[in-house]
Amino acid sequence: MAGAMSAPATKAPRCPNCGKAAVDAHKPFCSKRCADVDLARWLRGDYVIPGPDGEAEGEIPEHDPRDPQD
Ligand SMILES: [Zn+2]
Repeated sequence: MAGAMSAPATKAPRCPNCGKAAVDAHKPFCSKRCADVDLARWLRGDYVIPGPDGEAEGEIPEHDPRDPQD
């Protein structure tokens, strides 16, 4: 067997924005920039939140139980 050592298993979470390793200071992001980008998406409603116009579905997720914000 070729002893190809795999990369050390890191428990560090990956930045959901760019995929880099997250840092403690900006968990779960790798940097403040990525955190800001992700937050901005939320604020702008680029995620799952339906537009303000049109019919109200009444199924808007109010809060993610696994809120990354500590
Ligand atoms: Zn990042």
